Amino acid sequence: MIYLKTEEEISLLREANQLVGKTLAEVAKLIRPGVTTAELSRVAEEFIRDNGATPTFKGFPNESGEPFPAALCTSVNEMVVHGIPNDEPLKEGDIVSVDCGTFLNGYCGDSAYTFCVGEVAPEIHQLLKVTKQSLYKGIENAVAGRRLGDVGNAVQSYCESFGYGVVREFVGHGIGREMHEDPSVPNYGRRGTGILLKKGMCIAIEPMITLGDKKIIFVGDGWGVCTMDRKPAAHFEHTVAVLAGKAEILSSFDYVEQVLGDREF
Ligand code: MG
Ligand code: MG
Repeated sequence: MIYLKTEEEISLLREANQLVGKTLAEVAKLIRPGVTTAELSRVAEEFIRDNGATPTFKGFPNESGEPFPAALCTSVNEMVVHGIPNDEPLKEGDIVSVDCGTFLNGYCGDSAYTFCVGEVAPEIHQLLKVTKQSLYKGIENAVAGRRLGDVGNAVQSYCESFGYGVVREFVGHGIGREMHEDPSVPNYGRRGTGILLKKGMCIAIEPMITLGDKKIIFVGDGWGVCTMDRKPAAHFEHTVAVLAGKAEILSSFDYVEQVLGDREF
């Protein structure tokens, strides 16, 4: 069941998602060699609660009903998504994908950004750049009258043109009062196929892109997912509202980009 949102609901979703953007900026301020992902999550949780919201991820159940233990998913290097924050310090040359969710005034925010820890190898920097660009190519297609396959195809064809892998097992999703609503939003697909996009649909588009092969495995903690070949993966996510002519991006990387300044990631 796909719920089309009213303007008022979209404005509540915008508030929850702007808070995610601001939270990711607080995280961006701290990323450097030596910081732990547990510390990033602790700071994010405090910031979210100080702003009158709750971290949606904390307590969110997996398929076995086990609750996710933290406010952020922090996925380092070959980890694709759903990394549990831990006490291992980040190292120079690492990348860390930070996924953040908020619940504010009854509506959910969801957005993710992949950061560099100090200087990273050029091939990894390019992976981040292309993954972020692919997100915007998907968003360009999230317009009333197009189909969901147009969004996935835009992400997939762009990333595959660089030889990267597009993860199949995890996808974007509708978002509203629930973090995960219908429809599923794959990062692959064929043009002109899939459900028709309508004004008021709110979806999270979230390419998960690998430097090597697209195959993934679970790390065994009930959550973490990493690449089978152990090559790095990147993850960028925006929540958007489908409108006529152009999607509105409800989340924001502006706050993060202000913190990063000349550094793009
Ligand atoms: Mg997310
Ligand atoms: Mg999401």
